[in-house]
Amino acid sequence: CGIVGYVGPQVPSARPLEVVLAGLGRLEYRGYDSAGVALVSPSGLATAKRAGKLTNLLGELEASPVPDATAAIGHTRWATHGGPTDANAHPHRAGKIAVIHNGIIENFAELRAQAAADGATFASETDTEVVAHLLAAAWDGDLTRAMLAVVNRLEGAFTLLAVHEDVPDTVVGARRNSPLVVGLGDGENFMGSDVAAFISSTSRALELGQDQVVTITPTSVDVVTFAGEGVTPREFTVDWDA
Ligand code: GLU
Repeated sequence: CGIVGYVGPQVPSARPLEVVLAGLGRLEYRGYDSAGVALVSPSGLATAKRAGKLTNLLGELEASPVPDATAAIGHTRWATHGGPTDANAHPHRAGKIAVIHNGIIENFAELRAQAAADGATFASETDTEVVAHLLAAAWDGDLTRAMLAVVNRLEGAFTLLAVHEDVPDTVVGARRNSPLVVGLGDGENFMGSDVAAFISSTSRALELGQDQVVTITPTSVDVVTFAGEGVTPREFTVDWDA
């Protein structure tokens, strides 16, 4: 029900996690049944997820900090496929990839059966997890390319964010029939299901259109259509008292 993404400079810092947790806190008003985060650092990928309130997640994160994270994604879930359990909470992982999703993948059953036939093992009952396995199968070193290959196979409504441990300076997002906005920082960039996700850090934002994929690093934002054509998104100023 809420999505936050962050990427920033490679200095030992707690900021990625702080930004994502603050964003999830600001999105709490929408309601949710579970929460989770993925942190990417040059030394790997860590995920934590829990059914229930954000506070349940905080305890787990304090027990295993990732001080050198450069990117983070965070999710609050409103379950549609699979009950509100720890296993069904997002992020969902496949190998070195972690994915969060708001919405519904209408054709997940068919995709899941194919992925299972190809050897994927599933750890949840969600429609979302198949996206992680499809991204892992499509991975050839470029997360944007993998996302483009996958979104063109999905039907339904989705805001997706993905990270891969081999590219700790990158977060890739996609949207169809579901909102996603980009926040522009100074040496850091943000994504959110709405501007509340990053309003305490920046008021400069980019509006994404239908069927677009966005790739953020600390110093770049690139947007393409699902057909892979470059897009120049409209910048706007968030006029909101933070
Ligand atoms: N359909 C997904 C699930 O049930 C995402 C739900 C949401 O939008 O939070 O896990």
